[in-house]
Amino acid sequence: MTRIDGKTMAAKVKERVRQEAKKLPRKPGLAVILVGNDPASRVYVNGKRKDCEECGFYSEEYTLQENVSQQELLELVGTLNGREDIDGILVQLPLPKHIHERTIIEAISPAKDVDCFHPINVGNLMIGEKSFLPCTPTGIMELLEEYGIDPAGKRAVVVGRSNIVGKPIALLLLAWNATVTICHSKTPELAEHCRQADILVAAVGRRGLITADMVKEGAVVIDVAMNRDENGKLCGDVDYEAVAEKASYITPVPGGVGPMTRAVLMENTLLAAKRHQNLQ
Ligand code: NAP
Repeated sequence: MTRIDGKTMAAKVKERVRQEAKKLPRKPGLAVILVGNDPASRVYVNGKRKDCEECGFYSEEYTLQENVSQQELLELVGTLNGREDIDGILVQLPLPKHIHERTIIEAISPAKDVDCFHPINVGNLMIGEKSFLPCTPTGIMELLEEYGIDPAGKRAVVVGRSNIVGKPIALLLLAWNATVTICHSKTPELAEHCRQADILVAAVGRRGLITADMVKEGAVVIDVAMNRDENGKLCGDVDYEAVAEKASYITPVPGGVGPMTRAVLMENTLLAAKRHQNLQ
């Protein structure tokens, strides 16, 4: 069994991004907006700031009060859309209940939508046109490539169908010529589907959901989830110790998909900066 090391791979990707960013006439710029003080969101935003520093990017952070109005948030997004020195705009989700998430996402210029959540970018991804790279799914594909795992002709099973993970990873696996099944909370016989998988992607958010009896001998197992156990320790959906005995490759949590998600955000910001400077 090979443990897929996302931390090392992410460091390599960020170093490559840093080298490329150095060659640009103007530094890539990322603006991150955080509404409220959810501790988990704060950790993510701090991580993004650190990544920008490592890659030599310019970054700005806006922390808005929990009760900020949707109009004020839209105005900030509008201002950032018009700024020459900002290439990427990221609004940390989830937003407070009184703000309509889709309205905010759709207000971000598609050219600055480095999270790849805007319907135009999602549509482009769907039809195989140039778009941004959806961060978590692209991070997974880069890991597969790094470890020489070619999805072509393989059976891939994705558990989870969210817009940010399940659906886009299924699309990318399909684009790479896997035969893809998507499972969700209404799928009967989940274990039966999972046992068919050459590549099994777990993106649910339920600790212990994927047990060893659900995994085929020699399967590649990708655990996207970020759950907390009873001691507050980070863990995925997969029963790691037992599944590692059967898998050929497996991602750990932490240290697997998570660091790659952050690295792809940096790749997208670099891409946006190149496009804005007419270099791509
Ligand atoms: P989400 O929006 O809550 O979606 C969860 C999906 O799992 C849904 O499609 C749901 O089905 C399905 N599901 C729920 N219970 C199930 C069950 N018993 N059997 C099969 N499917 C079931 O979550 P998400 O945003 O996609 O995130 C999934 C996990 O990935 C979370 O742990 C999140 O923290 C983590 N995550 C990690 C990264 C990273 O960088 N590593 C990035 C993003 C998310 P229905 O559609 O039928 O409800």
